[in-house]
Amino acid sequence: MNYNDIRTIEEGIHKLKNDEHIKTAIDLDIVGKIFIISYTASEDSPLSYEIRNYNIEVQKALMNKLPLPEKPNRPFTYPNAKIYMVENLCSVGCDKKPHDDDCEIPHFNQAVESVMLDDKLDIISNMTPQIVSNRKFKQKYILDIDLDYFHTCRSIQPTDSTPFYDIIKNSETITISKEEEFVLEWANTYKYDEKSSVEYLMDSLLNHIKIATM
Ligand SMILES: [Zn+2]
Repeated sequence: MNYNDIRTIEEGIHKLKNDEHIKTAIDLDIVGKIFIISYTASEDSPLSYEIRNYNIEVQKALMNKLPLPEKPNRPFTYPNAKIYMVENLCSVGCDKKPHDDDCEIPHFNQAVESVMLDDKLDIISNMTPQIVSNRKFKQKYILDIDLDYFHTCRSIQPTDSTPFYDIIKNSETITISKEEEFVLEWANTYKYDEKSSVEYLMDSLLNHIKIATM
């Protein structure tokens, strides 16, 4: 694909599935870096230098039957990368050890809550201080929202929408994927919230965008 030649884009775009659009945009230098906040990341990617060293020390301790080292605390430093994923193990402030099934809904409900987004933006600013500082992006960005990120009706109604509205307002473009299959699965199979639907989530999101950009 060559983005100066529309024909190559039209020919290639049908061959792309799922997240391949994003990977292709990086390969074509249309997009420089990607930051992902999702419910699948149990740890940062790439791993910070601190956690890498910690993991090595844990292995050594286990092999030599020595006491385990203490896990380091944030902030961490990170190697350079094009795709970053932010750890999202449980809701911010949950101190249950280990996290269990009761953690799930509160974690979902924090999806775009200020405590959650501030926490993730802080980690992203540690990952790339040249791109994000003081929880603000210093470069132009596209905000891509998948509706299946929202597992409950409550999850798209933050009590404090300030950071969510900032991210919306400051973006160049917003893209939205309905992900209808997954939204239906969350409501009907997993029964996280049977009232949730693509229509409800889309209406709520468009309303947020309208208010944020007024
Ligand atoms: Zn928890």
